[in-house]
Amino acid sequence: MGNTSTDPVVKRCLARHDVDLDDHDPRETFGWEKDAARGAFEDEIAIVSDLQKRLFAEERTALLVVLQAMDAGGKDGTIRSVLTGVNPAGVDVNSFGVPSDEERKHDYLWRVHAHAPERGLIGIFNRSHYEDVLVVRVKGLVPQKVWKKRYSHIRDFERMLGDEGTHIVKIFLNVSSAEQRERLQDRVDDPDERWKFRLGDLDDRALWEDYMKAFRDAMRETTTDDAPWYVVPADRKWVRNLVVAKILHHHLEAIDPRYPPAEEGLEGVVVP
Ligand code: AMP
Ligand code: MG
Repeated sequence: MGNTSTDPVVKRCLARHDVDLDDHDPRETFGWEKDAARGAFEDEIAIVSDLQKRLFAEERTALLVVLQAMDAGGKDGTIRSVLTGVNPAGVDVNSFGVPSDEERKHDYLWRVHAHAPERGLIGIFNRSHYEDVLVVRVKGLVPQKVWKKRYSHIRDFERMLGDEGTHIVKIFLNVSSAEQRERLQDRVDDPDERWKFRLGDLDDRALWEDYMKAFRDAMRETTTDDAPWYVVPADRKWVRNLVVAKILHHHLEAIDPRYPPAEEGLEGVVVP
């Protein structure tokens, strides 16, 4: 599948095997103006919505979008914005938090595989199997010799999904530490947002550098032609939304879904 987009921004955000987060500015705007970007975003969403109808009708492939970010990195906001206008029946959103007792009895891919999207759907993973080489690594929840092997499991798992008809795109919403501080503070200060905040979020924030290293290594180890990672600048929500829409547009276009042929003999049928 042709994964090399002709869109320079999509190309710019594509993570290579030597990806370095120092090369990706969370405040990047790509020279866009906020007002013009709104129109561009609406155009992209209209295209995504049309391609999604075809994907759904064809039932040949699925698109799995893996979203990862630090707390307050914008995963929920991205899902809300970018999927506006897409038929909800064609979208399957799953969030992965701390594994349940049941999930803990299985291997770490078990719960994720169970939620891989069926053919015809756009599946969104809000967090994913990557937590098992991110938080699990940073917090030392399993020994290094255990999490290190997971990169190769993940490559194999994703290759299998790809071979069986699931096109995979992985997105790291790259928010800066300063922007995260503001957003977390806003959560604490706003009674309607406070429920999203946990004191434990501060422990993760204190481990920022370790997380960045873990994200970098995860992307270096698992970005492939068939399941690429993108680093999306996420300090400005309007930039983030437009970039993610462009990425989805590109990958849906690469899938090239088509409406199934109509039944024979429908020409001239008059419905009584
Ligand atoms: P939230 O997305 O705010 O609901 O938080 C979900 C929490 O679950 C985050 O703190 C994640 O780090 C944590 N989490 C997700 N997957 C795992 C996992 N496999 N092991 C441990 N913690 C996880
Ligand atoms: Mg949280």
